[in-house]
Amino acid sequence: MNSKEIVEKYNQFVMHTYAPTVALSEGKGCKVRNPEGGSYLDFTSGISVHNVGHCHPKVVKAIQDQATKLGHSSNLFFNENQALLAERLSHLTLDGKCFFCNSGAEANEAMIKLARLWGHEKGKYEVITMVQSFHGRTLGMIAATGQVKVQNGFEPIPIGFAYAEFNNLESVKAAITDRTVAVLVEAVQGEGGIHPATEEFMVGLRQLCDEKELLLLCDEVQCGMGRTGKWWGWQHYPIKPDAFSIAKSLADGVPMGALVASPKLSDVFKPGNHASTFGGNPLASAAALAVLDVIEQENLVKQAETMGNLFREGLKLFVEKYQQVLEIRGEGLLIGMVVQGRAKEVVDACRDMGLLCCVAGEHVVRFLPPLNVKEDEMVEALEMIGDALDELYGNGE
Ligand SMILES: *Cc1c(COP(=O)(O)O)cnc(C)c1O
Repeated sequence: MNSKEIVEKYNQFVMHTYAPTVALSEGKGCKVRNPEGGSYLDFTSGISVHNVGHCHPKVVKAIQDQATKLGHSSNLFFNENQALLAERLSHLTLDGKCFFCNSGAEANEAMIKLARLWGHEKGKYEVITMVQSFHGRTLGMIAATGQVKVQNGFEPIPIGFAYAEFNNLESVKAAITDRTVAVLVEAVQGEGGIHPATEEFMVGLRQLCDEKELLLLCDEVQCGMGRTGKWWGWQHYPIKPDAFSIAKSLADGVPMGALVASPKLSDVFKPGNHASTFGGNPLASAAALAVLDVIEQENLVKQAETMGNLFREGLKLFVEKYQQVLEIRGEGLLIGMVVQGRAKEVVDACRDMGLLCCVAGEHVVRFLPPLNVKEDEMVEALEMIGDALDELYGNGE
């Protein structure tokens, strides 16, 4: 099918929850193509999913090999890949145990259920989340998400959440009650506009949680897996959470989420407490193991830091050149460019130049290249962004 035919079928048969712009049919590394053969540089990476780039040969091979052996078996049976993946994630993180599911929202749901079960005997269940956070679109997670725009129309919203201001410790303190069981935070708010947490805030949260016997939970769905130049966003601070969620880039597009817990929380769930049919199946686990191999072997965590610094330096020139470009924010290759007008206009103009990027809120253009983006691809992207800004804002004069 050509792009036009695909769009027509979407209009007729796919619910209009998104507003997709172009059809994509092939990808390799940082490049994607539409059915007509037109190519783009992809600085969305499927929204922080392809941290190792599109169709990485090692990941493709792992998926192909596993698909011919045993794709799925359910959690009624042991599978080696899930065992190996849990071991790898545990060693990379909190030395505890993992639970596997299929998406970010589900990983967060599992984490909230774990916290509630942990607090159950003491009658504690409420989780404090941040204004402008994003935790997913299930009924539970729209309640956790501190943005009314994801809740509007879906009332009644499930109870059990309270909201505090991000990077404002006093606000979190004020939200604590006898019911509070945990604080949930993103080390870098993604959808909310690429806002990194301050060290003072994260260290303060850890102390506060220890003092009040609350759990500190991190949502690493977007900022985990090397994206910010550390394996996990929380590693930018001298703290550890009690548990955290992963998804997006975990299995490179094979849908997979994980809840990773410290030893303190590793044995709270008992058989029958929580479940997932697909979670951690041999196929997804094989993909995730290959992703971890590639990130380690190609040194991509360090690469994200180096390339992120370079890219942000390039973007900062636009702040000097255009009064409409206000600020460059982020960590590693999770980058936001704040503009005065609508970010979507910039995204559209970039796409016309051949660069795919996305928005993070009304005024933030978000760049999420794969962690193995090459320097010449970054230079090319910067040129395209420059051309797009010239077209929108004039050439700086
Ligand atoms: C994308 C995202 C989610 C939701 O993940 P899904 O896989 O879409 O359910 C949750 N939290 C954060 C921080 C995210 O970026």
